[in-house]
Amino acid sequence: MTQYRGRFAPSPSGDLHFGSLVAALGSYLDAKANHGQWLVRMEDIDPPREVAGAAEAILRTLEAFELHWDGEVAYQSQRHDFYQHHLDRLIQDGFCYGCDCTRKMIMSGGGLYQGTCQHKSKSELATPHSLRFVNNNGVSSFEDRLLGKISVEGEFANEDFILKRKDGLYAYQLVVVLDDMEQGITDVVRGSDLLEVTTRQMTLFNHLQKGQLKAEPINYLHLPLAITDNGLKLSKQNHAKALDLDERKSLMLKALAFLDQRVEDDYRDMSLQQLLQLATTQWNIHSIPKEAQVFNY
Ligand code: GLU
Repeated sequence: MTQYRGRFAPSPSGDLHFGSLVAALGSYLDAKANHGQWLVRMEDIDPPREVAGAAEAILRTLEAFELHWDGEVAYQSQRHDFYQHHLDRLIQDGFCYGCDCTRKMIMSGGGLYQGTCQHKSKSELATPHSLRFVNNNGVSSFEDRLLGKISVEGEFANEDFILKRKDGLYAYQLVVVLDDMEQGITDVVRGSDLLEVTTRQMTLFNHLQKGQLKAEPINYLHLPLAITDNGLKLSKQNHAKALDLDERKSLMLKALAFLDQRVEDDYRDMSLQQLLQLATTQWNIHSIPKEAQVFNY
């Protein structure tokens, strides 16, 4: 059997908040409970959205919570050659085409891209333009380890999604799949905000796996999101509060309780390390709630 390899893949667009702690902790415990490795990959692929110093602060925060990763941290910003190499191969093989449609044009067609530019010649395309995947075999459902069968609309599953953006940045869907494959990730445990796009990642995975890059199929587990009273996801965009390092123990206990893992009164007297060790042996994915949970600081 392949050894379990999990990962936590934060984007350095701000400090870690309670929702990110839940994702980090869930992926860490699942990896450790399966005697696996837990990697950290910094998804610094989108400089305009990045905050100076955030990547370093994220790593220091993980360490402060005693969430220690295996091996070196991978930085997507240092992997452009690898991404371009595989993108070139997709272009060469005819699985990628340029698209100069504006968001407005796509919205007026219903919001999902209709393949408008697929047969445009180079001279007909405006520059700059994005690059889209020729999606002939879209995955429309998969089995989530926690949530069971997840299905998406056929039109969404078969959309020719973007691999490289008009602004020249690699799209998240491309790099996440290339990295998960190249790093030999066996299990992805992350927040449910990425539930639907998992189908796209599987679509691209299946294509690359046919010859470009060898990898074993990946298992997915999507954790409940932490939301505010008014139903918004705790996120950097809506200014979720940064994790307070003076409150590490209580935040860790809250994160365990959030995932409906066992928490008892005397856990307060343990060190973070002891707590994580115990939580690893008691990790039970069947108790994790399936719905988003409200979290108040
Ligand atoms: N970088 C993404 C985020 O911070 C997570 C990607 C993933 O886990 O696949 O939302």
